[in-house]
Amino acid sequence: MSQQAFIEKIALIAQEEMKRSGVPASLTIAQAILESGWGTSELATKANNLFGIKGTGPAGIYQKVSPEYVDNKKIEKLSDFRKYNNWLESVQDHTAKLLKPIYAKVLGASYIVACHAVQDAGYATDPNYAQELIERIEKYELYQYDSQGGQTMPLPILIIDPGHGGSDPGAVGANGLKEKDLNLQISLYQYARFQALGVPVVLTRASDITLTPDQRTKLVRESGAKYCISNHINAGGGDGAETIYSIHSDGKLANKIAEALSTSGQNVRRVFSRQGKPNYDYYFMHRETGSVETVIVEYGFIDSKQDDVEQIQRDWKIWSESIVKYFCDFIGVPYKSPTENPQPEAKPVDKPVDKVSIEINGKVLPVQGYLKDGISTLPVRVVSEAVGVTPGWCPDNKTVTVNGKQLTVTNETGTSYAPAREIASALGLQVEWVQETKTVKLKG
Ligand SMILES: [Zn+2]
Repeated sequence: MSQQAFIEKIALIAQEEMKRSGVPASLTIAQAILESGWGTSELATKANNLFGIKGTGPAGIYQKVSPEYVDNKKIEKLSDFRKYNNWLESVQDHTAKLLKPIYAKVLGASYIVACHAVQDAGYATDPNYAQELIERIEKYELYQYDSQGGQTMPLPILIIDPGHGGSDPGAVGANGLKEKDLNLQISLYQYARFQALGVPVVLTRASDITLTPDQRTKLVRESGAKYCISNHINAGGGDGAETIYSIHSDGKLANKIAEALSTSGQNVRRVFSRQGKPNYDYYFMHRETGSVETVIVEYGFIDSKQDDVEQIQRDWKIWSESIVKYFCDFIGVPYKSPTENPQPEAKPVDKPVDKVSIEINGKVLPVQGYLKDGISTLPVRVVSEAVGVTPGWCPDNKTVTVNGKQLTVTNETGTSYAPAREIASALGLQVEWVQETKTVKLKG
């Protein structure tokens, strides 16, 4: 079978699976290519097992020696693998695996986020797994299979780069504050806001992973984005923000971002570019990111003797929002504040309100739900996040989804609540009601 024939055969199944599950087809195809060597592996030919999933399959077990990584070292080991009757069963099993809560970030995600999410969740032991997948998706243009109903996903305008991450903490403050965490917090906020505003946006990392400068700049270069905002926190004892642009740029975006920070209460020290070797940028994020216009944003100093340390922790969201607003203006996209993009309309909760306790796998949550007309209703975000799932919010039709399932939501002082059974079902958990202690117990 030719490579193109392999892609087309898997793509048909993967797209159907994407429709019902939200697992990006590009990810499924790339994993099938990588794990099965284009369908030529022993597991694929003898057991229809395209993804190297272990255990007992619908057609039994196939035993095979396989490489494993232990402490980043390759070793050989005899293992049981699942045997399937056909490729469809194998792809469906792959979907089932990715529908587990630890893979929640994969669902409905752009392929870069999805590839990193499977690696972060520990899908494979190969430390370069995400990169291997992304390379294949891009080389064979597998992202085209992620479009639904003939609508292609637009190329991103912006790629947000949370600086550092994983084994590289970046700057560290005296109080244990780490630059990598602050960068990620800011970046995830901006990412969510741009998404809500309909600005096509991607990230270099969505969690605490290590990226080498080569991996990072490759993600930026190949993102298709026009602009990159690389988020950082400074160190060295100064105070205030800095934005840094390439020596080949006109600096307009860097100035715009500095203005955003300045109007939202942060003092700006300087907007500048820096040359290393003649005609080369000093910073790799400018030097190695190709035609993408990259602005490095230093929000403040983690070791400031003045007010940056308090400001960063208190005002990061205001600053981040201001940059979202100014960037929208810069690219000519209408901006709406988070309050104009409101949460679902509040439906008054009928009296009487009885509080209920929530327990997940034996652990009592610090928040409570309430009984409404005899139905226990739980806070969607806290319960979902307790099992590693981030709920989705669609501003167009004002709906809340968990793992792609829409919930019946009521709103209480800014918090969305949904019936316990609906949340449990969307999260794949079992639900039990204990009348004596008025407790909802979730298990799974
Ligand atoms: Zn940094």
